[in-house]
Amino acid sequence: MNLDELWRRTVENLVREGIIRSEAVRRAFLKYPRYLFVEEKYRKYAHLDEPLPIPAGQTVSAPHMVAIMLELAELKPGMNVLEIGTGSGWNAALISELVKTDVYTVERIPELVEFARRNLERAGVKNVHVIPGDGTLGFPPKAPYDRIIVTAGAPDIPKPLVEQLKPGGKLIIPVGSYHLWQDLLEVIKLEDGSIKVKNHGGVAFVPLIGEHGWRE
Ligand code: SAM
Repeated sequence: MNLDELWRRTVENLVREGIIRSEAVRRAFLKYPRYLFVEEKYRKYAHLDEPLPIPAGQTVSAPHMVAIMLELAELKPGMNVLEIGTGSGWNAALISELVKTDVYTVERIPELVEFARRNLERAGVKNVHVIPGDGTLGFPPKAPYDRIIVTAGAPDIPKPLVEQLKPGGKLIIPVGSYHLWQDLLEVIKLEDGSIKVKNHGGVAFVPLIGEHGWRE
């Protein structure tokens, strides 16, 4: 079986399991297979529903985890979205397909900034802007955001990210311990600026390292 067929099966399994629930997320997954965003030696494993290594000791998340976060985010065309933790660039590519406009994604490791940019270019993604830096500070030049999606585990909800959300906007973020485990939180900013937090259960992410995250 070739990589495309293996990937199609993975996507259809996620649909059958009820993890991919919307046609938009299904289409985005089919458009950007995970094998386009890993090193050559890992391509044959990219259809497996588990995290895979990317350079600098980081990981690209398992397909089910990415699907869960994207479904929670309820992305719609035109939304202004910030991702924290670009990694391979795969999740940012999926977001860009869902919002069909510019997407901003922040990565702290320079090697991964380059890795993601190369992957995105090869995949033909033109509307993702990879920004080097500490994503716990958000990205003020393009704020406020409809959605902020954090793909690394934080000790707490970083204040700048809540500040950079629009009223009615949503932050999706794993919050908990430094290494394995965190709770996946959906943080909704209300019209009066206060927040409502829904807990979607246990997840395992690499640490979010920065001024409003874990210290190095
Ligand atoms: N979303 C990525 C993808 O699609 O491949 C996977 C992200 S990986 C699980 C987490 C990433 O967060 C790593 O690349 C790590 O370097 C990055 N990271 C950790 N702390 C960060 C911070 N403060 N700002 C930006 N990126 C950060």
